[in-house]
Amino acid sequence: MERFQHYIDGRFEDGAGSFESLDPATGQPWAVTSMADAGDVDRAVRAAARAFRAPEWAGLTASARGKLLFRLADLVQQSAPELARLETRDTGKIIRETSAQIAYVAEYYRYYAGLADKIEGAHLPIDKPDMEVWLRREPVGVVAAIVPWNSQLFLSAVKLGPALAAGCTVVLKASEDGPAPLLAFAKLVDQAGFPPGVVNILTGGPDAGQALTEHPQVAHIAFTGGPETARHIVRASAVNLAKTSLELGGKSPFIVFADADLDSAANAQVAGIFAATGQSCVAGSRHLVQHAVKDQMLARLKAAAEGVRIGAPEAMETEIGPLCTSRQRDRIQRIVDASVQAGARLITGGKPVEGAGFYYPPTILDCSGAPDAPCVTEELFGPVLSVVGFDDETEALALANATNYGLASGVFTRDLSRAHRMIRGIHAGIVWVNTYRAVSPIAPFGGHGLSGQGREGGMAAALDYTTVKTVWLRTSDDPIPDPFVMR
Ligand code: NAD
Repeated sequence: MERFQHYIDGRFEDGAGSFESLDPATGQPWAVTSMADAGDVDRAVRAAARAFRAPEWAGLTASARGKLLFRLADLVQQSAPELARLETRDTGKIIRETSAQIAYVAEYYRYYAGLADKIEGAHLPIDKPDMEVWLRREPVGVVAAIVPWNSQLFLSAVKLGPALAAGCTVVLKASEDGPAPLLAFAKLVDQAGFPPGVVNILTGGPDAGQALTEHPQVAHIAFTGGPETARHIVRASAVNLAKTSLELGGKSPFIVFADADLDSAANAQVAGIFAATGQSCVAGSRHLVQHAVKDQMLARLKAAAEGVRIGAPEAMETEIGPLCTSRQRDRIQRIVDASVQAGARLITGGKPVEGAGFYYPPTILDCSGAPDAPCVTEELFGPVLSVVGFDDETEALALANATNYGLASGVFTRDLSRAHRMIRGIHAGIVWVNTYRAVSPIAPFGGHGLSGQGREGGMAAALDYTTVKTVWLRTSDDPIPDPFVMR
């Protein structure tokens, strides 16, 4: 069995507890992983708070912080094959995707390395002749970063990169499901030369998460996960009044008009719902298609779903691996069954793959007769596509917006004017037109409503980890006039 420890205050150590990580492809234990309790969390936050003030970090120039991040980026790139192996082993995410994604994670660190010395303050043209007034952009303090089990390295890079560029220190809690790649990444942080306590990485469940989010020394909570956990976190932040940024789930519409390139749309829809075995926050899980081409699209999607190669996640040819947990597989099955009962028509899939491991096949449900079926309204976080037909643009928009989520969306059409009308009308943080599931460190990412608040990526994310200090400097040598009058 492989072993994974916590990284606190520059040291690798065991947590108060430990647990066995299961290989989702076999359901068998493969690693022993540390599990943090509230005491471990407290030590990590205190270490981060000390490091935040210590000259080894607080005294670094922004360019020096950038250089550390560049070094980290290079190490991530060099270690991408090993990190990909671990993520695939611990979460079941296919090696094809983890290899590509982790190599790209290095670009996120590079982007924020380059941004570190471009976080500028401002000088104000103040309305008083004997004053200089300027704004300093200062790091907000200790950041509590919490990530879910899908794409832990990627989802932590979008927090660590901007937080460290801004000069914050971080306690990063990996998910208790699939934490191995993040705990291994801690070695790269150490190797890059960040001073002790600047980055602390541990894993644990809801108790550790609660202790972290209500800790009095935490200034900002950056969370990715589900809306129910987000509610706990917002309540916990009532204790320390920390700022929160929340990247939550989605029920994203993928809209196909009759004039679209249907082959391209089908391929993008496959990427949008079956890639990562559907365990993607931006999964285009609601396929809204104009009636005139619904049968054609269904035929294409069914053929694609039935042709997907399901197999061992570490095999390069595999396209769908297991789900991360048996809990997740069972939940998907419950929602699919309830949807069929509610009138959805099963086109393909719909039952777990027999044998070992937490496999679930690509599943398509025609929900035109049951637009309120649970598979249309609830996030499944699995390879399940719900199809609903529409007549015209107005109906497409109404269906697209009939959700409290607002993360991503896709529109497929060759009509430029219609594309623009749809872009304006869709309530979502991301609109992809004639493409889907494209990301970049340069482009902000996030949603609203049940999909959260705040944006990751881009300069705005780095600014989010700063606070503004207003400085007033009097330039006159004359005595201060009337002290009882505000100037
Ligand atoms: P989850 O909300 O159950 O868990 C996420 C993290 O929160 C885990 O690390 C967990 O240990 C921690 N946690 C649990 N209870 C906590 C508490 N009381 N206080 C603090 N932390 C706590 O989510 P999940 O099932 O692991 O992940 C799936 C969800 O994540 C989906 O809803 C998915 O859409 C969402 N997600 C969103 C994005 C995005 O960027 N918008 C990206 C990936 C996943």
